[in-house]
Amino acid sequence: VNEKPSPEITSLNREYFEGCALGELRVRRCLACEARFRFAHEWCPVCWSGELGWVKASGRGKVSHFSIVHQAPSPAFEPDAPYVIALVELDEGVRMMSTIKGCAPHEVAIGMRVEAGFEARNGADIPIFHPAGSLGVDTSE
Ligand SMILES: [Zn+2]
Repeated sequence: VNEKPSPEITSLNREYFEGCALGELRVRRCLACEARFRFAHEWCPVCWSGELGWVKASGRGKVSHFSIVHQAPSPAFEPDAPYVIALVELDEGVRMMSTIKGCAPHEVAIGMRVEAGFEARNGADIPIFHPAGSLGVDTSE
């Protein structure tokens, strides 16, 4: 079966994916300097503190860079092609790679406002970004 790869759940990202399952995009918060960042490390990339927590991000951001994939890297992605691989800068300042759905690839632009939705993939929910306003993300918190 040609399946898309699913994320490996580790101690570094477990709470992140638990958030995704609840429809929450979570980022790391440094308790020492308040930096926000992705889950790749057990230490703060700004001040090297190991005192970390998690915080729910707004799920909103903008496209920082993107490219359109015309040739799928594996058969599992062929039905999606052409699709967009984007570097999204969250309003919290955290950058993450994702894809943009909900519009045609040629409609994606640098600086375009986007919001996170979630898509189930092999037992884990992963964030997928859509043009802002199209999902009605709750930003009341
Ligand atoms: Zn820090």
